[in-house]
Parts: sequence; C-alpha cells; structure tokens
Amino acid sequence: MTTDETTTFADLGLRDELLEALAGLGYEEPTPIQREAIPRLLEGRDLLGQAATGTGKTAAFALPILQRLPSSGRGTEPVAMILVPTRELCMQVSQALHRYGRALGARVLPIYGGQPIGRQLRELQRGVDVVVATPGRALDHLGRGTLTLDSVELVVLDEADEMLDMGFAEELEGILAAAPETRQTVLFSATMPARINAIARRHLRDPVRIQIEREVPGSGESPLVRQTAYVVARAHKPAALGRILDVEAPAAAIVFCRTRDQVDELTETLNGRGYRAEALHGGMSQEQRDRVMGRLRSGTAELLVATDVAARGLDIEQLTHVVNYEVPSAAESYVHRIGRVGRAGREGAAITLAEPREHRMLKTIERVTKHRITVEKVPTTADLRARRLELTRAALHESLLEDELEQFRVVVETLTDEFDVMQVALAAVKLAHESSGPGADDEEEIPESAPLPAQQDRGPRAGGAGPAGKRSRVPAGGMTRIFVAAGRSAGIRPQDLVGAIAGETRLSGRDIGAIEITDRFSLVEVPEDAAKEVVAALRATRIKGKKVQVRLDRDGKP
Ligand code: AMP
Repeated sequence: MTTDETTTFADLGLRDELLEALAGLGYEEPTPIQREAIPRLLEGRDLLGQAATGTGKTAAFALPILQRLPSSGRGTEPVAMILVPTRELCMQVSQALHRYGRALGARVLPIYGGQPIGRQLRELQRGVDVVVATPGRALDHLGRGTLTLDSVELVVLDEADEMLDMGFAEELEGILAAAPETRQTVLFSATMPARINAIARRHLRDPVRIQIEREVPGSGESPLVRQTAYVVARAHKPAALGRILDVEAPAAAIVFCRTRDQVDELTETLNGRGYRAEALHGGMSQEQRDRVMGRLRSGTAELLVATDVAARGLDIEQLTHVVNYEVPSAAESYVHRIGRVGRAGREGAAITLAEPREHRMLKTIERVTKHRITVEKVPTTADLRARRLELTRAALHESLLEDELEQFRVVVETLTDEFDVMQVALAAVKLAHESSGPGADDEEEIPESAPLPAQQDRGPRAGGAGPAGKRSRVPAGGMTRIFVAAGRSAGIRPQDLVGAIAGETRLSGRDIGAIEITDRFSLVEVPEDAAKEVVAALRATRIKGKKVQVRLDRDGKP
C-alpha cells in the first residue's frame, strides 16, 4: 500500500463530473484502497482485493465503472454488473452509484429477491447502465431472458466470501459464464479463504492484488494510550458521543470524521449540547484554520472536529483524547490519528465509535496495530448522573481546599437558625450541581448494539449433521434459536434458510450460527438481539415458495 498521503482524486485520473460529485459529498481525499484500486481499474486490469466495510471499497469500484459511461448514445443493456450478498448491501451500493453518478445521469438498477419483479422488468426494458444484484434474483432474470449481459464490460463480486457462505457458488458461476469473456472482473472479499482464491484463479485474468491488512510501521508504540470502542447504531451516534464525552470530560479532544459535511454537522450538534466545538476541514482558508487552532490552544475551544486532511501535521500539546466518530478507512490512518495523544509520556485515550457492521474493520485494526481495543458499553443515563455528581463533588472539594469562603459564613449561620447544617449543605450542593450543566434526566436510553459476531467465532454450522429430531446443542453465547416448521422432507437446505434470512433482514450470512435440519423442521441460531426481526421477516416471506410457520424456539420442543 502506498503511503503517499497527498494523492487527490484528480491525481487518480477521474473525470470532472465525478470529481465534482466527490467534492460535493465532502470527500477530501481517496482512502488507501481507492488510491490503489482506482488507477489500476481505469487501466482495465482485473482486481482481487481484500477489504472490509468501512475501507471505502464501494467507491473504489463504483468510480471506475462510472468513468466509462459514455456521455451520450448509451444503449439499453448494462455495461456493468455488481453482485452483492444481501438486499441491504444491494441498496447501499446502488445509492452510492446514484450519488457519484448523478451528473452523468447514470441509470442504476438494484435487483434483489423479495422486491416485486414488475418494476425491475420495466426499468430493464427502459435501459440501465449498471445493475446491482443479489445472485439468486440476477440468475432468475438471466433465465427469463429479461436481463442480458452481452454488453457487460465489467463484473464486480462484492463481499464474495459472504456470497459463498450463503451458498451462492453455483449462481456466481452461472452469472460469470453469461458475461462476455473479454470483460474486466473485480472481486472484493473481507477474507481470502481457498475457495475465494479458486474463484479468482478461474475467473480473473492476471489480477492486481490489493490487501490493506499490512502491518503498520510505528504501531504498537503508544502503550500509554487507552484504546476503547463503542458499538453504536448510526442513528444513535451523536447522542452516544455526547455521553461518552460527558463521562470522559476531556481537556482537549479531536474528533475525526470522514467528510466535510459530517464535520460541519457534528460541530453544530456538539455546540447544541453545550460543548465548545470548532470545525476544521480542507474547505477552510489558512487564516480560518489558524484562528481555530488558536482557540483550541488557549482553551476557548475544547473540541476540534476535523477530517484527516485538515488535521494532518497538527501538533496540539494539550490533547488528551482522540475520537474516531467513524472507524478509520485503514489501520494506517488509525495509527496516525492516535499518535497525537500519549506523547512525551503523558496518558491519553483513543475512542472509536463503530457501527455493528464495522466490527471486522475494528478487528483488522487490532491485528495490524497489535493493540487490543476494549469494547465498552455506552454510558447509561444512570452512569451519566453518577459522573455529573462526581464532578460536582470534586469541584466542591477543590473549593474547600482552595477558596476563600469566610464571606459566606453569615449565610450559613442565618440558615442554621432554622435548618440543620446538613440540610443547608444539601441545598448548596444542589444549586452548585444544577449550575454546572444540564441534567441527564431528559435523555432517553441508547439501545445497546452488539457487534455482529463473525460466524467462525461461533463453531461450525451443523447443516443437518445432528441426529434427526434431537436437540444436540445449546445455542452459542449471545445467540438464540429459531424454529422453522419445514425441514428435509420439504427440501429445505441450509442455504435456503441463510438466503431467506439474509435477504429479508439486516443480518448477513456471517451472522447466522448453527443450522440444524431434521425431517420435519429446522432450527437456526441467530444473534439474540435480531431474533424478533428474523421471526417477523420469515413469517412475512416464503421459504422454497411456501409460507412457513416460524417462532422463537423457547421451550426446546418444536
Ligand atoms: P465502504 O467501505 O465502501 O462501505 O465505505 C464506507 C463509508 O466511507 C461510506 O459511508 C462512504 O460514503 C465513505 N467514504 C468512502 N470513500 C470516502 C472518502 N474518500 N472520503 C470520505 N468518505 C468516504
């Protein structure tokens, strides 16, 4: 991986419409995977990339696809096909293509199971440039002749390991066979098991290989930095950050965001919460930046909300905390960021907010930096209240030691004619406490989000290996079992259940645990916090074309 940090999107050779779109979205510079992949894809090379969610891999393949769209005279058949494991990813990738390709008028069609096929047919007839599809539904269209890949110049397999985990190997082979041999092929996968390498050998021509998990020089050298992560759903991130900052009470902190827009938005939110936060990003003049830095150094501001570009080279002596509001796009970037605290033997803290899907990137960072990141729970309102009382106590303690208090004696003495000294003290503490900031009482609890655990962490998927009709195992920790009233005699295979769950819920194949299939019924382990969602989704859908009775496996009996 190149360490050249000054590469811009323009340096990568992208066309103006795309550069404008990226600037409009507040992207300041390419992520490492984008720096590596985009020029090679523009040259027409095949690519085998190991990259997880959070690295910016979507733009790494989406931008080269959009680059090749002719400005006019486009046909009706797609020139690119992107295969993804889940409906959720299908929509995310389609939205990204829309955002980047708006000025080009890119026609992007998501195709996934569970969506009415009529709309997809109409769009296909009208003409599309890029199809983003789950393998089952794509093959379905190919079989019906409603989708042809004759004009396809580029095929992307995104999250290929997940697609294999979900039993889509045959579908992938079928789809790749239907695309012209002269096409370019891109394969992204978070892991590189032998099966992925085998697919790459068969279908990729002399691919460029990109791996972003290299060891980072200089990592493992910040023993004084406490490294913590919180797993929080996107919607709760601003509130969670506010709470974490309340409990940590940093003297001076820098909060990193990915884009300019995020920097501006978060600065406003934090100011609304009563912090003195300042924005710092590449869209600001040198004079504006100097002013912001001056305010941080003098203590007028306590939080700096910044992008990597803007914060590069800044050395802020009083910094106690580095916060990653998003998981950084590469371990290098994590190491650079946290290198700003814990200098010269001082203690510091690095805090990372990760979304449940980004747990793999956290693991990668741990592995590459050889540092453990402790996952902690977001402070509850009770934690917050306790912490605020502690701050009041500390302030009073300091005042008792240092302040000149005699002038207040007369107030206490007149009140003690009527009240007990303890009561007077309590009232004084209450006033001091209330004047120190807003209480936590008005805040709602933030629901807990567990990192979605990787399947390999939880033992093998049984796939009907257990003796028919017997429950051989108890669910793994954090998992619960779902009863599905259809089994071998109805032709149910593990991939049918995985496909149905991954297609209809936010879970991916990797999140699903052991599956036991007996003649009459099946049992599937899913993360406890997603169990209700899975039951509701499976009840609403069809498995192998049939409505099936589904419920939580409460009592160990079908
Ligand atoms: P991905 O790994 O493709 O899921 O992307 C993770 C997130 O990073 C998405 O929200 C993107 O919008 C964002 N992103 C991708 N590339 C960049 C970039 N160069 N600068 C800032 N944000 C980016």
